[in-house]
Amino acid sequence: MVQGSVRVVQARRRQRQRRIERRVDARDPGPVDLDRQRRWIGIRIRIRIGIRIGIGIGIGIGIGIGIGIGIGIGGRVVTATVLDGKLVAALVKDEVRARTQALAARGVTVGLAVVLVGDDPASAVYVKAKTKDARECGIDATDHRLPADTSQAGLLALVARLGADPRVHGILVQLPLPKHFDTDAIIAAIPPHKDVDGLHPENLGRVAQGKPRFTACTPAGCMRLLAHGGVTVAGASAVVLGRSVLVGKPMALLLANADATVTLCHSKTRDLAERVAAADIVIAAVGRPELVRGAWIKPGAAVIDVGINRGADGKLIGDVEYAAAAARAGVITPVPGGVGPMTRACLLENTVRAAELTLG
Ligand code: NAP
Repeated sequence: MVQGSVRVVQARRRQRQRRIERRVDARDPGPVDLDRQRRWIGIRIRIRIGIRIGIGIGIGIGIGIGIGIGIGIGGRVVTATVLDGKLVAALVKDEVRARTQALAARGVTVGLAVVLVGDDPASAVYVKAKTKDARECGIDATDHRLPADTSQAGLLALVARLGADPRVHGILVQLPLPKHFDTDAIIAAIPPHKDVDGLHPENLGRVAQGKPRFTACTPAGCMRLLAHGGVTVAGASAVVLGRSVLVGKPMALLLANADATVTLCHSKTRDLAERVAAADIVIAAVGRPELVRGAWIKPGAAVIDVGINRGADGKLIGDVEYAAAAARAGVITPVPGGVGPMTRACLLENTVRAAELTLG
């Protein structure tokens, strides 16, 4: 009996021993394969480095895109081609210089008379810039400064004298004139063949006929900018904001002459936003800072900003909300540096043309 119990205990011990040995066998990796271990360690290191690099690149790209979007939202991403008015004006001035030289070779010195009445500081700056430009292009520019209290008759007498002077090919009376002048009568007194501002009724009428002699300088400059930007005007839907004789009306005529379908808007126009949103070409000439919102602009549209407004900080701003519009437009002009330099360049072009026309 005792012997039987001892055998049972011994059998249980052997079973337990075998179970322990089996467990130890299961954990034993067997003979060590060092090459296999090294490969496995190498793979694990590469996986870890890969994961770290992946996370690094991911974070980097994430931060980069984040900053990009941040800048985009804060400062807006300019996707439009910015039409550099200074650059195009320089090209126009080169052409004018070549033409004045050609005229000089034929014994003709191109003459421009610039008349400034009063002491408006902005007008004085414009006149100084115009005469400087003219002289740089070989044009003989003369300043005629009259006091603010000059009479209508006094100014008409000067215009008549300049009109009769064969050395003067172009006459520019700087606008606006002091309030007591009848501006229309002064402009009408300039001989049409010397009206290099293109504002005489005869010259405006010729633009309306599609047979221009002198085109108003600012709209002419806008057309040059559109051409420089490769904008197809024929068949385009164009919206002109502003209907002044100086800018809006001749602008609309020039676009219509170039086969655009034109809508001329003004302060009584309803649905301005919808009209702008449907336009392939937008010309803003209202004198209202950022009236034209960027969100109105049709993607890919050409935006020409004529407006010159002084912001609260004293800086010049246009009639278009520039940053937002530049994120949608195909081409856009900045303010300053867009239309302004082109207006001056087109005055020079009209002046040299006036001299060329005297030769027949
Ligand atoms: P303007 O004679 O005062 O004419 C402004 C035009 O804008 C008017 O036809 C007016 O409509 C319209 N208008 C005003 N508020 C409007 C609104 N809320 N919505 C729609 N239309 C509105 O001015 P301008 O002589 O044509 O000049 C316009 C801007 O261009 C100004 O900022 C000026 O300084 C600038 N400019 C620049 C150059 C250059 O070389 N860059 C040259 C000339 C002018 P109504 O006819 O109904 O009153």
